[in-house]
Amino acid sequence: MEDYRVKPHQKIDLAKDYDPNDYGEWKGKKAKGVARLTELRAELDALQQVLYAEHQHKALVLIQAMDTAGKDGTIRAVFDGVNPQGVHVASFKVPTQIEADHDFLWRVHAQVPAKGELVVFNRSQYEQVLVVRVHNLEPEKEWRKHYQQINDFEKLLTDTGTTILKFFLNIDLDEQKQRLIERIDTPEKQWKFSPGDLPERKLWWQYMEAYQEAISQTSTEYAPWHIVPANHNWYRNLVVAEVIVEALKKLDMHYPQAAEDLDQYKKDLNEEVIEKKGN
Ligand code: ATP
Ligand code: MG
Repeated sequence: MEDYRVKPHQKIDLAKDYDPNDYGEWKGKKAKGVARLTELRAELDALQQVLYAEHQHKALVLIQAMDTAGKDGTIRAVFDGVNPQGVHVASFKVPTQIEADHDFLWRVHAQVPAKGELVVFNRSQYEQVLVVRVHNLEPEKEWRKHYQQINDFEKLLTDTGTTILKFFLNIDLDEQKQRLIERIDTPEKQWKFSPGDLPERKLWWQYMEAYQEAISQTSTEYAPWHIVPANHNWYRNLVVAEVIVEALKKLDMHYPQAAEDLDQYKKDLNEEVIEKKGN
């Protein structure tokens, strides 16, 4: 899984070096991979419980991808088992008027995890160097500044106890076409089809260029990017879950110790008599 982690300032060529069909060590082992995901979900559930109980660390999982690459599906598959208390998903859409009237990190900062929380970003601050760049919503001179601003923002978060894990779900143009057609053909999926996805798709290579540069400029020791092969859903879910579980394990979290000796309370409970009032 380490292979998918992007080193700081690593130059990347998405088309050449990252195969969306890759299975790593798991080629031909789908059944095992699916079983492993079930284990990882249970581990994630346990880790999230202790994260919440310990109330010290903060965890931020950030997901970016082209349409249909599976942002929603990954979130559902990976976080299926966790306790909804202490976890939330923040989705970033086209900024509202009030959001657009502030700096681009304003709405993002408002959603970052507090102590004990795990937050998933479905899209993120990175839209400001992706869609904004591709559609010329800001001049280059402006959006270029955002790489450093994002790095500084993420440094602030990690310096104050946040573990940040960033994932780019990497599908290819062909796979996206199949998935769009499947959405059109499947009544339960038609609601997900948006005609606007077609003109976006025409800008595929501009988006790839924007992703390459964004990932390269903002993969840091403290907030690394992972480029996840995402043509096969089960493998995509497995990679994301594995990376999150590994990172949370490293935090070496513990349930809080009781502040005082609890034996007396146990004795009291065992000996208690609670009388019923009245009849
Ligand atoms: P799905 O992938 O399931 O379609 P979605 O995340 O694409 O879900 P939509 O409502 O279809 O949800 O799209 C949200 C849109 O908001 C995206 O096109 C995204 O590029 C756009 N967006 C997000 N942040 C910004 C931003 N800062 N500036 C401009 N557009 C943004
Ligand atoms: Mg969309």
